[in-house]
Amino acid sequence: MPAEAVGLLFDATLCVGCKACVAACKRVNDLPPDYNSAVDGLWDMPLDTTARTWNVIKVFKQGAAANKDQVEDGYAFRKSSCLHCVDPSCVSACPVSAMKKDPQTGIVSYNPDTCIGCRYCVAACPFGIPKFDYDSPTGKIGKCELCRHRIAEGQYAACAEVCPTGATLYGKVSDLAAEARRRVALEPGTTTVYPRGNLTTGDQPSWEGPVAHYQPSIYGEREVGGTQVLHLSAVPYALMGYPTLPERSFASRSETLQHTLYSGLVLPIALFGAMTWVARRNSRGHDDQQGGEQ
Ligand code: SF4
Ligand code: SF4
Ligand code: SF4
Repeated sequence: MPAEAVGLLFDATLCVGCKACVAACKRVNDLPPDYNSAVDGLWDMPLDTTARTWNVIKVFKQGAAANKDQVEDGYAFRKSSCLHCVDPSCVSACPVSAMKKDPQTGIVSYNPDTCIGCRYCVAACPFGIPKFDYDSPTGKIGKCELCRHRIAEGQYAACAEVCPTGATLYGKVSDLAAEARRRVALEPGTTTVYPRGNLTTGDQPSWEGPVAHYQPSIYGEREVGGTQVLHLSAVPYALMGYPTLPERSFASRSETLQHTLYSGLVLPIALFGAMTWVARRNSRGHDDQQGGEQ
């Protein structure tokens, strides 16, 4: 993780499901409307991330779905967008480096000019985030790039900027992780201050609200080597639809496997080279002998 890495903290207990972040993401990234099907084509309401929708709010529901952030007859909202992994599988899988991780900000970006449309990144992502645009004549991948074009202009992630409750918060990952740990350590039912917008610069007024019964862990702190987008929830992560993943990144596993295979191939290649040299030397001796007999 770069020291100056930036990211998001999504706190499901603060999300009211307004989807202002979904609309803002579309607006600042100039993304066209998306439809579930031709039948309900009136609505820009995709069920999951697509090449044209890089941020969606999903809902967990059980029973009567009457109690927010509870499992029993409960419901809760969750943000689904790129997590900007510390060791991203999409970057590791891309054969032409169209997916890149920035060494300063840690943002995982996509370059459509380099992309050959192989979709390895789509298959490699453990969170099912990048999607291929089959409707485009040339075909390209779409995924959240943490509003890097806005960061270059001194702004920050639009989804965090418009979020009315601070459920989506932008900032340096070190600040976001400290804020997440602070919330998890609070006594449920007490009151605390919730920042909004950019946590690191404190550009928006904060507000006071009750503390939920948080899950004890921060999703993204350890999963697949860590991510720059962290999540908090009162409902268990697995029920919310977050994949249960190992701590070691898949990228480091596959690269270790490749290196082992390649280093294991050195000996057979050397042996093959030696055998070829001996065979050529013997055949030359044989040719010389035949030439002498004639
Ligand atoms: S803008 Fe904030 S509160 Fe509204 S849906 Fe997005 S994360 Fe939730
Ligand atoms: S969440 Fe998926 S698309 Fe985003 S950086 Fe990680 S592997 Fe890549
Ligand atoms: S950081 Fe930008 S691109 Fe990513 S989900 Fe938020 S608004 Fe969309």
